[in-house]
Amino acid sequence: MQYTYPEGKHLALTFSYDDGQIFDRRLAALFDKYGMKATFHLNSGRFGTKEHGRTFIGEEDLRTIYANHEIACHGVEHKDPLLLTEQQLLMEFGEDRRTLEALTGRMIQGLSYAYGRYSDVVKRVARTVGLKYSRTVNRTHDFMVPADFMEWNPTCHHADERLMEIGRNLLNSPEYRIMPLMYVWGHSYEFDRDGTWNVMEEFCELMHGRDDLWYATNLEICDYVNAVRGLIYSMDGKKVYNPSVISVWIKDGAKLLECKPGETVCL
Ligand SMILES: [Zn+2]
Repeated sequence: MQYTYPEGKHLALTFSYDDGQIFDRRLAALFDKYGMKATFHLNSGRFGTKEHGRTFIGEEDLRTIYANHEIACHGVEHKDPLLLTEQQLLMEFGEDRRTLEALTGRMIQGLSYAYGRYSDVVKRVARTVGLKYSRTVNRTHDFMVPADFMEWNPTCHHADERLMEIGRNLLNSPEYRIMPLMYVWGHSYEFDRDGTWNVMEEFCELMHGRDDLWYATNLEICDYVNAVRGLIYSMDGKKVYNPSVISVWIKDGAKLLECKPGETVCL
């Protein structure tokens, strides 16, 4: 018996892109073309601004380019979290969340740490303002789901020289490996600056259209893994109760079981 992703899918892929510069328009369109799902981590204090040759997306973009993707926090003004007081952290994360929610009408629940910087205090404040997960910049080169979602280490950056190899490894993951996840992060401006749009195009070409691969946002992965972790088993292991609000999928040999929200299933 082992867990799978929704509908029995064996593998998962997610992306995270930071800062909300105008190149997000092209990147989100590329993801849409290939059916990829991504999370865009945005600084709400920078919308519609230009600084140091960088141009940020405007508020009007929020409802269009990210329609198929998750919008998440990255701090109001991209301040270094390790140089802020607790009170300032509260504003940097909390006001970002409030503004993004007001502008999108969505419930915003994700974060990535500006400069990849965090501490126990930073993690606690992020949780306090209702954020469920936060991405770091510590690459793992593996497919493990995180122990602590407030310290979610990605598999690799898109500029990693092993990107394609790691992608192929995910697709070839043996059946016994449970819930392998590949998590790619970066900034959309890097494709323009480095002339590497073709890298993402080739990666999407490799990964798209698979029945065994769940294309999911960061939040969807986080919610699913938390639902798995929240299951309650009878002492004899023959019954499982799902107290969460999303289905969890369990494979028993060739049999696929859906444990629906609020239901108890016999194994
Ligand atoms: Zn950033």
